Amino acid sequence: MDNRNDGPEGEDAVREAAQAEAHQMSHSRAAAPERVAVSDPPPDPNYPRYRVEPGHWLKLGDVHADESEHYTRKKDVADELDLQRERIRDLQARLYGERRQSLLIVLQAMDTGGKDGTIRGVFQGVNPQGCQVWSFKAPGPEELEHDFLWRYHLKAPPRGMITIFNRSHYEDVLVVRVKHLVPEDVWRPRYDLINEFEEMLARSNTTVIKFYLHISKAEQKHRLESRLKDPNKHWKFSSGDLKERAYWDEYMAAFEDALNHCSTGNAPWYVVPANKKWYRNLVVARTIADTLEAMAPQFPPGEKGLDKIVVPD
Ligand code: AMP
Ligand code: MG
Repeated sequence: MDNRNDGPEGEDAVREAAQAEAHQMSHSRAAAPERVAVSDPPPDPNYPRYRVEPGHWLKLGDVHADESEHYTRKKDVADELDLQRERIRDLQARLYGERRQSLLIVLQAMDTGGKDGTIRGVFQGVNPQGCQVWSFKAPGPEELEHDFLWRYHLKAPPRGMITIFNRSHYEDVLVVRVKHLVPEDVWRPRYDLINEFEEMLARSNTTVIKFYLHISKAEQKHRLESRLKDPNKHWKFSSGDLKERAYWDEYMAAFEDALNHCSTGNAPWYVVPANKKWYRNLVVARTIADTLEAMAPQFPPGEKGLDKIVVPD
C-alpha cells in the first residue's frame, strides 16, 4: 500500500487536507447529475435512475424487480455495460492519481440478491490497487465492545480509493431490527446516527452511494433452488438463509424504513431492479460512472519543465 504517513511533510499534508476540504465544499451540491435532489432537470441521457428521493416515501412494493427498460436479453446490454465499465476504469485512474476524494459504495440485498455478482460484473478491469472490498458478517467480540459504527468507520475509504461495502452499517437497522438483536430504543435512533455518519464522511471528501438490489421473493426461491441443485454452488447455500427467508415481510419493512430515512443529498439510496442480473449490473455501473463523473477527479499537474527534460542514456 502507499505510504500516507506524515513525515517531515506533515504540514503539507495538513494544508492539502484543508484544500481538499475546500474542494469538496465547492463540489458539495455538485455532484450533478447523481447527487442532487429531485427538483433538478433530468440528466442526459434520461434513463431511469431509481434514486430514493429525499422527502418522497418510496414503497418497495411499487418497485418491479423484473423491470429492464426496453432491454430483453443480456446481449442487449453488453455494449452499454462495456462502455460504463470503461468510464469507471478511466475515472478511477483519475481518482487514484488525484488523491483528494474517495467513493464509498454500499451494497445491500436479501440473501441471493446478487451483491457478489454485482461486484464481479461491474468492477471487471478496474485497477485493484485503487479499489477495496469489505464484507461484513455478524460482529465479533471486539466489535461488540465498540459503538455500532466503529468497524465501518475503520474501513471507510482513504483519499483516492473506491471502497465497496458488501453489507454495511445498514445491517444494524436490518437484521438487527428484524431478529430483535437489540431493543427498538437502540435501533430506532440509528437512522439519524447513520445520516450523521454519512454526512461526516461527505464533508471529508468521501462521496457515498448506496444500492439496494431488489429481487422478488419468487426469484429468491429460484436462486436458492439452483444453489441446491448445483454441487458447485453448495458452498453458497446456508440453511440459515431459509430462516431469514421466513422473515421476508419484516425485512421488506425494515428496508423500506432504511431507504426512506437514510436517502440524502449527500448519500442517496438507489433501488435497483435485480431479478435480471445483467440489467442490475448495467444500472449499478452507469450510476457509479455518473457519480464518479460528477466528482470530476483530475490527474494532478506534473512538475514544471517536464517538456525540457531529457532522460539520460
Ligand atoms: P453472508 O453475507 O452470506 O456471508 O452472511 C453474513 C451474515 O452476517 C448475514 O446473515 C448477516 O445478516 C450477518 N450480519 C452482517 N452484519 C451484521 C450485524 N451488524 N449484526 C448481525 N448480523 C450481521
Ligand atoms: Mg449468505
